[in-house]
Amino acid sequence: MSRDKAADPRLHYQRRQRVLDALGEGLLLLPTAPLALRNGDVHHEFRPGSDFHYLTGFPEPEALLAAWRTKDGKHRTVLFVRPRDKEREIWDGHRSGTEGALREFGVDQAHSWGELWQTLPALVAAHERLFVRLGANSRFDQKLMELFANNAMKHRKAQAPMHPILQDPTPAIAACRLRKDAAEVALMRRAAAITAAGHCAAMRFAATGRYEYEVQAQLELTFRAQGSVRNGYQSIVASGPNACILHYHENDRRMRSGELLLIDAGAESGGYTGDVTRTFPVSGKFSASQRRVYQVVLRAQLAGIRAACTGARFDAPHKACIRELTKGLVQLGVLKGSVAQLIKQNQFRPFYMHGTSHWLGRDVHDCGAYNDQGGVPIQLAPGMILTVEPGLYFAPRDRRVPKELRGIGIRIEDDVYITTRGNEVLTAAAPKSIVEIERLMALR
Ligand code: CA
Repeated sequence: MSRDKAADPRLHYQRRQRVLDALGEGLLLLPTAPLALRNGDVHHEFRPGSDFHYLTGFPEPEALLAAWRTKDGKHRTVLFVRPRDKEREIWDGHRSGTEGALREFGVDQAHSWGELWQTLPALVAAHERLFVRLGANSRFDQKLMELFANNAMKHRKAQAPMHPILQDPTPAIAACRLRKDAAEVALMRRAAAITAAGHCAAMRFAATGRYEYEVQAQLELTFRAQGSVRNGYQSIVASGPNACILHYHENDRRMRSGELLLIDAGAESGGYTGDVTRTFPVSGKFSASQRRVYQVVLRAQLAGIRAACTGARFDAPHKACIRELTKGLVQLGVLKGSVAQLIKQNQFRPFYMHGTSHWLGRDVHDCGAYNDQGGVPIQLAPGMILTVEPGLYFAPRDRRVPKELRGIGIRIEDDVYITTRGNEVLTAAAPKSIVEIERLMALR
């Protein structure tokens, strides 16, 4: 049985209804993610398309959702799925088949994947508008173009248009996904809890002389042992100077005494992912210089979290972080001048080169607009989940930075759920104050 199976007919019906109501009259066509060949006849691990899975809960590859609103204000759903196949199931595992799709996923009709291009022409011809995203899957696009051409040929005498009006449904789906429903928040809590547990395990395991990949294995062992099917993204386990490489993935360095270890990793569970960064001393005790930089980043992160509340703009946490980081850079002797002036001139940029927040949910960089149509950052509202992740990165040979701070890279990241009252830090179980970290690491 697929680990991504999430059959909940009522929930998925409601989500489809919401998306279709936002889109209006027309036919929604949404394929799941395509299978990707790794080499020879071996595929990359399959993960259902996020939008497709959000609207169906269906876990298997080679599947497509077709749905449209009916006159009574409800909607109809057709699912195309791989058929039962005794021979293939011996090799690849269980399939729901059309029977399973009908029985467990609450769709009105189910067809075999092999019948897709025989069944779609009539469905497409019955609608004046088609909600489909082009450009994501060239094979699918090509087949759809052929379908348009064939349909037009059939109706040539009636001067039918070559194809229906096309509209990308992605923004409408993204708008729904931006504000998490109760089921999603429950899954996010679980992913966040597993993620925090993994970071705690990494802190307890890290030690001088160990390799980064050993700590990664310990962290991911905890993820798997607690029910996470996969990571939400590649784990970053960056010791010493590697912490200054933002998307470091080699994870093959041996850790030395006196260094910091930066870990950015998230467990995916139930289709949702955590996204947490913690930075801690390999030896279990912060040095005086590390402590000074760490306090600045932590102050910035706490200010960023306080700024993330209902009604605030999306960039409010970033602004709060920038202010604290710039103040800190002056205290650390990296920058000189008035804080207000330094902020205006973006003087923090060489040491803080990334944004503070992104949406989080099914995808680590989850869908949803950051700005309104006029380019103004959108207002935070209950149900949204975002990261708050300031950092400071002092490259090993950066002469602008006092010598004792060079080679220090620190980021602290939590997952923040916006509520009616303010917010809730979903990943609070991963220690981040100096006292908490040193206390946990002393237990090794
Ligand atoms: Ca991250």
